[in-house]
Amino acid sequence: MDRYEAVIGLEVHAHLQTLTKAFCGCSTRFGDPPNSNTCPVCLGLPGALPILNKRALELALRASLAIGCTIQNRSRFARKNYFYPDLPKGYQISMYELPLALEGELEIETGGEKKRIGITRLHMEDDAGKSLHEGFPDSDRWSYIDFNRSGVPLIEIVSEPDLRAPADAYAYLTALKQILEYTEVSDCNMEEGSLRCDANVSVRLRGASKLGTKAEVKNLNSFRYLAHALEYEIERQIGVLESGGTVTQETRLWNVAAGRTEPMRSKEFAHDYRYFPDPDLLPVSVSDSTIADVRRDMPELPSAKRTRFQTEYGVSAYDAGVLTDTRALANYFEAAARAGAPAKSAASWISVELLRRLNDAGKDIAECPVEPAALAELLAKVEKGEITAASGKKVFATMFDTGKRAAEIIAAEGLAQITDTSAIEKIAREVVAKSPDNAAKYRAGNEGVFKFFVGQVMRETRGQANPQAVNEILKRVLAGE
Ligand code: ADP
Ligand code: ZN
Ligand code: MG
Repeated sequence: MDRYEAVIGLEVHAHLQTLTKAFCGCSTRFGDPPNSNTCPVCLGLPGALPILNKRALELALRASLAIGCTIQNRSRFARKNYFYPDLPKGYQISMYELPLALEGELEIETGGEKKRIGITRLHMEDDAGKSLHEGFPDSDRWSYIDFNRSGVPLIEIVSEPDLRAPADAYAYLTALKQILEYTEVSDCNMEEGSLRCDANVSVRLRGASKLGTKAEVKNLNSFRYLAHALEYEIERQIGVLESGGTVTQETRLWNVAAGRTEPMRSKEFAHDYRYFPDPDLLPVSVSDSTIADVRRDMPELPSAKRTRFQTEYGVSAYDAGVLTDTRALANYFEAAARAGAPAKSAASWISVELLRRLNDAGKDIAECPVEPAALAELLAKVEKGEITAASGKKVFATMFDTGKRAAEIIAAEGLAQITDTSAIEKIAREVVAKSPDNAAKYRAGNEGVFKFFVGQVMRETRGQANPQAVNEILKRVLAGE
């Protein structure tokens, strides 16, 4: 295995988040009754004429700039001809020789190393319908077709063969998905098929400059399948070469149940599709001023946000990564900071306490029962020493479970921090008196038992004693003062 190197290029398809389809006014809503969102255009009826959805174009332009591509002033839709029952026109409308945008790049990080992955092109196309072979009456004898998805707008983003391992591919898809979500270009819902990925993979001897023959693995609709399919395929190809064979250029499928890739068809080439410009659609012309508008309306991208969080709020690179994972989480953090939460402690409370509880509750940040301002109130109390950090965690748990504010919980549960030194001293004396052996050890120079006493005092005060006061008082008491 070590003698070989894998080469991977991804073709990613994403549904654009439009209300209506690419070339007609039908709804794109997922999950509607089969064939309820159809019309002569998306059913491919003779004589029907497509008209490009302006919003779809705007979103595709936004995606292009977000991944650093150069938008072409002139692009064109082509017909990609092939037969399939769920493709009623007999062709897919796609861009071919004049794509919407060219030559972008994406930065990924794997194993602590940063890499730039080239993007060859971004183009627009329409989706096909969906063939259903199960879950319907007589589906052992009949197949069904749902055309609701027919004509839903897609972008396809093709990467250069710059990825070198399944982990690279995983990181690339993660970064791309994050950008498409941030920019609201696509909801990237993989279960609903809004984000799909084909992986091209070849292997070559390490150090070789020529690329090996690739196989394309189709329709990987989850991150896990992508990684598993690539691992399998890399090993398979190395096996073929090591046993003296040659890799066949072909299209393969990931068989989830069997955990292997399987041949699906021999590789099709561009000429098989008889591409030609779609005579029903005008060329797409995008002016420089339109491009400037798209650039102006671009939301802040994940990488810019990560950098800004570090410089503006002083959070670590790691925390900045966690906090900017989604735009909603980043907004939550900023709202808490704006409401007066100390930024660094907000960062760590959100990335540890809040995310853990959301995760346990199976909730999204949008459903978080603790408002950013309520978190800010709690953190201010911890900061001011009104409650200890340990109590803060308990209060936070109750806030999360009940939606109550911090002040109410602190009062009801008597969690206010004990700063009364005489109360702490009384407890410290009791604790020391109860463990004369340990006290003797301490006096004989065993510093380690000091922690034991601190723990005892904290236990007696249910974690509410001011830790600094406990330390000072215990030292005095143990010294026999
Ligand atoms: P095709 O004409 O077969 O569709 P393309 O040149 O359009 O091939 O490339 C499709 C995808 O395959 C791209 O993402 C590209 O980076 C990737 N790719 C091309 N050649 C190789 C190779 N030898 N090994 C792995 N990936 C490759
Ligand atoms: Zn329609
Ligand atoms: Mg191709």
